Amino acid sequence: MSVLTEFKAALAKAKHIVVLAGAGLSAASGIPTFRGAGGLWRKYDAMSLATSEAFEENPSLVWQFYHYRRHVAARAHPNAAHKAIALLSASPSDLHAVAPFAQSFILVTQNVDGLSGRALPPNLPKESQPVEMHGSVFRVKCTKCVYVGYNYDDPICPALGGTEAVFDEDKPGLKIEVEDLPKCPECGALSRPGVVWFGETVDLLDSIYENVLKKCDLLLVIGTSSTVYPASGFAEEVQEHGAEVAVFNLERTKGDEYADFLFIGPCEDTLPKALGVEDKVKG
Ligand code: NAD
Repeated sequence: MSVLTEFKAALAKAKHIVVLAGAGLSAASGIPTFRGAGGLWRKYDAMSLATSEAFEENPSLVWQFYHYRRHVAARAHPNAAHKAIALLSASPSDLHAVAPFAQSFILVTQNVDGLSGRALPPNLPKESQPVEMHGSVFRVKCTKCVYVGYNYDDPICPALGGTEAVFDEDKPGLKIEVEDLPKCPECGALSRPGVVWFGETVDLLDSIYENVLKKCDLLLVIGTSSTVYPASGFAEEVQEHGAEVAVFNLERTKGDEYADFLFIGPCEDTLPKALGVEDKVKG
């Protein structure tokens, strides 16, 4: 039996399907990944840009980096893999056509680009929305008080003269003065990007384990290098209670050791095909 036939048989009996996504899901939308070919961190040092220590030391540089990432994300469009996931999250009839016993289909994403949410129709209930475990580049958090908000207008674009976003830490003209950085609307303190940085706790983790992973019987791991904790542990966790795991990636990764089904190739092709929805997500 081919892996595709075996995977379809697993879908046909699954009750609680979970998708874990990484940066590879958005690669075809033009958002650079961290570690694959053309990955962001090959060009820039992650530890100097995505940690709270880096923000304390140089908030202007870190905001400039997130300004650039917001700019890229805001101009990108969901690709066929985002659309396939969105279709099955939002439409029970499409879900039941491929997984007749499915009671839930939940996306947990490590991505901060907001593209999975944008692939969904508007006004869906919370349980159909993606769980953004690492936050979003469109979110801002206060560094002093509890304020968290979404801001789809670029908070620092005016400080950069409203120009095209570029990220170049060596370009002196791009430096933003600290007084021009976004401030909390509640208390006036410095705001920071609303993402989870390296070394920080994932606030949603307990709820993901309790409400999502515990009952999962089929996990689809898509476009992640499976090197970043805690998401890197999800496949092992669900397999321990008998769930099956399907991995969709451009290349072999550490996650393959848990793969009952392995699809090597661009997920924008392999995923819609494996889910049997390629005709519905074209274009
Ligand atoms: P990663 O960069 O470590 O790995 C990406 C993986 O995707 C690689 O294994 C690569 O081979 C694979 N890939 C690339 N193109 C693909 C495609 N078309 N189809 C299938 N697979 C493809 O990313 P990760 O594992 O998500 O790393 C975790 C961290 O990266 C997270 O903290 C996340 O927040 C952050 N990140 C997010 C974005 C985004 O929001 N789009 C972008 C870069 C990094």
